[in-house]
Amino acid sequence: MSLFKSSVPYVEPRDDITLPQLVFSETFQHPTKPAEYGNYPCFIEEDTGRKVYLAEINHRADALARAFSSLYNILSLYSPNHVDYLALTCATQKLGGIVAALSASLTADEVAYQLTVARPSLLVAHLETLPAALEAAKAVNLPASRIVVLDGHKSKTKLPYKSVEDLINEKTLPPYKEFTFSKPGEARTKIAFLCFSSGTTGKPKASPNVSLSFVGDLTGLFLDQAVAISHYNVISDVIQFAAFDQGRRLRPGNIASGVLPFSHIYGLVVNIHIMIYLAMSVVVSAKFNYERFLQSIDQYGITHLLIVPPQAVLLVKHPLTKKFKLSSIRMIIAAAAPLSAELTMQLVETFPDAAIGQGYGMTETAAAVAVYPPWQKVGTPGSAGQLLPGTVAKVVKADGSLARINEPGELLVMGPQVTLGYYQNEQATKEAFVDGWLRTGDEVLFKENGDMFVTDRIKELIKVKGNQVAPSELEGHLLDHPDVADVAVIGIPDDFAGEVPLAFVVLKPTTAAEVAKNPALAEEVKTRLQKHVSATKTKYKWLTGGVDFIDAIPKNPSGKILRRVLKEKAKSLRPPA
Ligand code: AMP
Repeated sequence: MSLFKSSVPYVEPRDDITLPQLVFSETFQHPTKPAEYGNYPCFIEEDTGRKVYLAEINHRADALARAFSSLYNILSLYSPNHVDYLALTCATQKLGGIVAALSASLTADEVAYQLTVARPSLLVAHLETLPAALEAAKAVNLPASRIVVLDGHKSKTKLPYKSVEDLINEKTLPPYKEFTFSKPGEARTKIAFLCFSSGTTGKPKASPNVSLSFVGDLTGLFLDQAVAISHYNVISDVIQFAAFDQGRRLRPGNIASGVLPFSHIYGLVVNIHIMIYLAMSVVVSAKFNYERFLQSIDQYGITHLLIVPPQAVLLVKHPLTKKFKLSSIRMIIAAAAPLSAELTMQLVETFPDAAIGQGYGMTETAAAVAVYPPWQKVGTPGSAGQLLPGTVAKVVKADGSLARINEPGELLVMGPQVTLGYYQNEQATKEAFVDGWLRTGDEVLFKENGDMFVTDRIKELIKVKGNQVAPSELEGHLLDHPDVADVAVIGIPDDFAGEVPLAFVVLKPTTAAEVAKNPALAEEVKTRLQKHVSATKTKYKWLTGGVDFIDAIPKNPSGKILRRVLKEKAKSLRPPA
């Protein structure tokens, strides 16, 4: 059988420890760490330069665990990046609870949906996300007493909600008992995080096992699943990453950027847990601003950039890049979407001394599956990296047979980082997680030397600046509009965002007749449809690729949209410049 594996040896970590134990207990820390333990800050707050050390995070996590102990088992965390992020996740997990990580860019409707899936007993919002959080909480009947506000103590007006700071400073709370496992193996199945993903099989999903009756017309419009991620999944990815690197590129005292959203698996696992495990510091940016990013590299001497491809575009193309001293940069990893060979070479030209390459992973594999190896200074341009130790891959061709070297097919992976499945959705889990193998929905091929190339995406997913956009979510939403008879949404290439959504729309006969009579109306209708999306969806889901009218959506006999045909049509309508 043609299986692909890493050439690097791997020793499985213990499966009876919790994530907070991995983070805080010297017993389980990285072998290179104890000598330097405590010397380096874990986080540096970008705006203030405040340094936060591991002992302080542990202290804050304990204080929060005391405050939360009688309150909940699932906490939804809806916040931009913050130096208290890890304290909040660890507080929850020290109680045996689960953290549902919500992107700070979500709208109130989107948050309401994610709250119905996770059903948290506590919602931690940030001062900035509070208005949308309150709207969402109202929609799902989450009482105000269950809302806590990060940075709430900085509010100019007195808030009727507890702030995280209030909770940490509560002096009268009784001690709590830290959750631990009693038997080997328990960490494998105990959920630590829920992170959202639209899935990998490309089939429309049944709505998750939750009632959306109180939000009525939202039913079926969101298809994201909550991926159930165990303590062991995250611990394994951390150890796999560390074993792969062998201390060659990631060392105690190195300083990483912290611009990836911590709510996304790449941010959560790679930017927080892997960096902290390796005694690196992370400069925490609440919001990505390119000029501030460059300033921070200079100000804090950032050595490691963890980015998505659009940020690589800025680094090579933006005139500001040349205005800052960026000589501290030693390593760049781009992941979450493809980094082209051309862009890789441009990065090499801009940063000739740095190691540069890609990582590949997904929410369902918490997080990394492949990374460019430490023996390549520059990852093979266009390659998504090589398999992490402990990961096995097979590539299944369209005819069901297994691909060999150089043959493309769907990537299936097996490994300790492959997550438990979709939370409370057996059907979706069964389709994607088959006999221990995860169907990734990505087409790849392997080269003789172990380099993996992502050659296509089979699943129906659009990646905008590394963010997931499910075409079916936008299609469901657009079908609700009175002008729309039928619709298909596809991703079209974009130099900066990677891809952007474009809607092919079949107009209802009355609207079509009006447009035929008065062609000037066409633009007005298109704008109306774009606004219909931008009114309730987060920005990266907006139809920035445009709206095109079409007589009929091409479908196969069983009704499946022929997206390839539409992609070709979009190409012919918008030839590359
Ligand atoms: P997410 O769950 O949001 O991390 O999305 C995972 C998906 O992003 C993968 O299944 C791929 O389709 C895509 N992806 C991640 N990394 C890469 C990469 N280096 N090259 C190409 N596609 C990638």
